[in-house]
Amino acid sequence: MNEHLSRYKVEKYVEQLASQPIVKSFNPSAVCKKTNLPLKVVLSYLNSLVDQNKLVLRYEIRCLSGNSVVKKTDNYMEYLGKELYCYYCDDYISVTTGNIFPIYHFNPEYRKVVNENLTSSLKKKRKLHISELTGCY
Ligand SMILES: [Zn+2]
Repeated sequence: MNEHLSRYKVEKYVEQLASQPIVKSFNPSAVCKKTNLPLKVVLSYLNSLVDQNKLVLRYEIRCLSGNSVVKKTDNYMEYLGKELYCYYCDDYISVTTGNIFPIYHFNPEYRKVVNENLTSSLKKKRKLHISELTGCY
């Protein structure tokens, strides 16, 4: 698949997620699964959505033994190489690049625009439906 189409696929899926109020954030592996694109490609597209202020990138530091989230942060560099307490294991874990996971959140304004577009495209569909009926007279 060409680059433009893969990018489109990722952006459409992100829009779809943004239109669902129950989805607060998502991880890149969910996008890989849905689009069948490699992680490296997905990350570069998602990061360009971050540059466009559509998404906000945050990080979860997880303890791999229980897969529990020990810390959520905007700046993982602050914790890299340090130790954090895991309540689940009742022990300290050392933070390495292996237990830092990127999590993407929606910029509320982006979400608003996605929903406005969705509503107006539904309205257009409804209008089209009515005009089709009129054509039958
Ligand atoms: Zn733990």
